[in-house]
Amino acid sequence: MNTQATAATTIDKDDLIVITGAGGFIGGALARYFHDQGFTRIRAVDKKPLYHWYQRVPGVESLCLDVSYRSNCVRAVEGAREVYNLAADMGGMGFIENFRVECLRSVLINTHMIEASYQAGVERYFFSSSACAYNTDLQKDPNVRALKESDAYPAMAERGYGWEKLISEMFCEEYTAERGMKTAIARFHNVYGPFGTWDGGREKAPAALSRKVIEAQDSGNYEITIWGNGEQTRSFMYIDDCVEGIDMIMHCDDLVATAVNLGSSELISINSLVSHVEAVAGVKLERHYDLDAPQGVAGRNSDNTFIQQTLGWEPSTSFNAGIAKTYAWIKEQYNDRKAGRPTPAGDY
Ligand code: NAD
Repeated sequence: MNTQATAATTIDKDDLIVITGAGGFIGGALARYFHDQGFTRIRAVDKKPLYHWYQRVPGVESLCLDVSYRSNCVRAVEGAREVYNLAADMGGMGFIENFRVECLRSVLINTHMIEASYQAGVERYFFSSSACAYNTDLQKDPNVRALKESDAYPAMAERGYGWEKLISEMFCEEYTAERGMKTAIARFHNVYGPFGTWDGGREKAPAALSRKVIEAQDSGNYEITIWGNGEQTRSFMYIDDCVEGIDMIMHCDDLVATAVNLGSSELISINSLVSHVEAVAGVKLERHYDLDAPQGVAGRNSDNTFIQQTLGWEPSTSFNAGIAKTYAWIKEQYNDRKAGRPTPAGDY
């Protein structure tokens, strides 16, 4: 890890850290990350019932609260020194394009969480923004030029989800400017890895395509349907890079109230994503393309110049390495479910 900014340098291991959305993918991984770093007081919060959480980390206080309500936010942040807000109603393109109201309503979460944090005297507050906050007009070509932080304005964000992220970023900036609370804002670019959504409609491309390959092999029907023409491009960040980046961004005083890209700069097309998964699975499938399915912008990549300048670091796990681990985890989940075994919640 880069030594310029780590949690250990600014807070004590027994200070209370609160993570919302901790029953989900990134929040769960973050709770485990801080636990493994030796933090003794972590409060994990999510509205999902505990048995649906992807990870239950031993020794972590786990609360089931809906933080779109003010009173629950007050309870969630009681005594906290740092708050990481990763709760949001979100999913992959299928969800973002079809459930804009739900996406927009996440503005309630950040609005109440940041005010409750401020009132509770929280020292640092983290908001999980997204590359969907960027101007969509700049993302019409699969041979995209990588997006740099200033490309969010003039604003033309992804309808619903992206606009919610943009306005919540502004809340963070103003809570720092007017009220003096240190805020941190990371714009995540497609995060993937084990302990994330892999079916049910909210899954993102790496998990969805891994599952489809597993299903094809399992059924003996060696075909796969890809959303769009497969030429759309993205970059994908492995979860371990994501949690390390969150830690560094949160504790870097040069980045207070400053949105920063947190993403891989390895651009790949959806077609090549499928080829990677096929290689891991040891199979070749006949490809079909659903041109009417949700597919998002044509191309998007992360320009990492700014994060390199400020932290001397950027996400570096290759897609090849990350997808192998992700595929293995999804296959295990798939097999467990098929065999009627309870899906492990990740307490280990
Ligand atoms: P996730 O869906 O796995 O986790 C989000 C969690 O928030 C869920 O467990 C959900 O139950 C919880 N939640 C939703 N509404 C809540 C509420 N009102 N109260 C309490 N909990 C609530 O998603 P994730 O991938 O872990 O995403 C975490 C954050 O990162 C989100 O803000 C998301 O927008 C952002 N983000 C993720 C990606 C990605 O590729 N995964 C990309 C860009 C931004």
